[in-house]
Amino acid sequence: MKLAMIGFGQAGGKIVDRFLDYDDRTGSGIVRAAIAVNSAKADLIGLDNIPQENRVLIGQARVKGHGVGADNELGAEVAEEDIDEVQNAIDQIPTHEVDAFLIVSGMGGGTGSGGAPVLAKHLKRIYTIPVYGLGVLPGTDEGGIYTLNAARSFQTFVREVDNLLVFDNDSWRQTGESVEGGYDQINEEIVRRFGILFGAGEVGDGQEVAESVVDSSEIINTLSGGGVSTVGFASEEVELNSGGGLLSRFTGEDGGADDDLDAANTTNRITSLVRKAALGRLTLPCEIEGTERALLVLSGPPEYLNRKGIERGRKWLEEETGSMEVRGGDFPREEPEVAAAILLSGVTNVPRIKRLQQVAIEAQDNIDDIQQESEENLEELVEDDEDELEPLF
Ligand code: GDP
Repeated sequence: MKLAMIGFGQAGGKIVDRFLDYDDRTGSGIVRAAIAVNSAKADLIGLDNIPQENRVLIGQARVKGHGVGADNELGAEVAEEDIDEVQNAIDQIPTHEVDAFLIVSGMGGGTGSGGAPVLAKHLKRIYTIPVYGLGVLPGTDEGGIYTLNAARSFQTFVREVDNLLVFDNDSWRQTGESVEGGYDQINEEIVRRFGILFGAGEVGDGQEVAESVVDSSEIINTLSGGGVSTVGFASEEVELNSGGGLLSRFTGEDGGADDDLDAANTTNRITSLVRKAALGRLTLPCEIEGTERALLVLSGPPEYLNRKGIERGRKWLEEETGSMEVRGGDFPREEPEVAAAILLSGVTNVPRIKRLQQVAIEAQDNIDDIQQESEENLEELVEDDEDELEPLF
């Protein structure tokens, strides 16, 4: 499906920048337009792929290009004040060729955390196409203020978008790595997962048409109904144009037994990938039982995809999630891997979010206490004990 991506804040901008790179490398054609919005000039300059004219600096009057710190209330305010600047950039893109908006932001910071929900609300008022969010949760080691920001942004963002896809940095953090190096890998993981998912249905000229293609409307239907989504993924390397039984099916030279074996292998590979994807690491860890809707996308060389495997995988997902709305299909790609991407939409049993909220409430209480204490301490310092001195005015 074709998306207009808007990266809000530093993380959002970097991830959208990386999506453009992914699009370039794979020819997936999912990024119809890419815009970066930030209150920090340096972050916009640091991007590689987003065209200069699509980089929007907001809040100049208030923060002079220096960013909002981690103040997401200020982030929301400057987004609201300068929403016309963002709209001007969106006016330049062919929205009639776009299936949906995707607003990407880190929820723990200031600009994206506060601004992304403001933009979602604005876009939903103006356009009829869906507005999705891709929100990144901060690592638990980032500290109270980031957690509090994320908890508040999450609540607001979910309410304003048609669906919030969540990626949890905490589950993907690797110890012993520099933060930047770590984000590089994490961002690659993000674009690969969401790239395959949104890439389904974007069959280019001359590419094979799948037996049962996933098209944009199936992605949209899976995401409709709102709420929170997570994505599972698993892949296995395969050889392109492998000989033997697989080719023989087309040349008709070999016996039927090999064909049956190949078909059984293909089916088994698919079903085990589906299990691995659903039960392995999700972008947002959660219990998959109770998921409202799901979409299974099987990508890979066409000779490694079959209807039976996808059908079995789909059935298994129905049983595991208890959902009556599990869609599935293939996404033929000439890559040396077979991959299962599973979109679980409308998940509700998410202990990670409950923990985030608890820590956020504690942080909020602490911040209030500290503020009150420091006000009292300051008063004690400035005022003389017996109140004998008078201020000038
Ligand atoms: P903003 O510019 O004020 O919106 O804030 P940032 O985007 O810099 O940071 C917000 C949060 O995003 C941080 O707390 C991190 O959890 C996360 N973050 C920052 N950079 C990246 C990145 O490149 N990739 C990912 N996955 N997360 C990031």
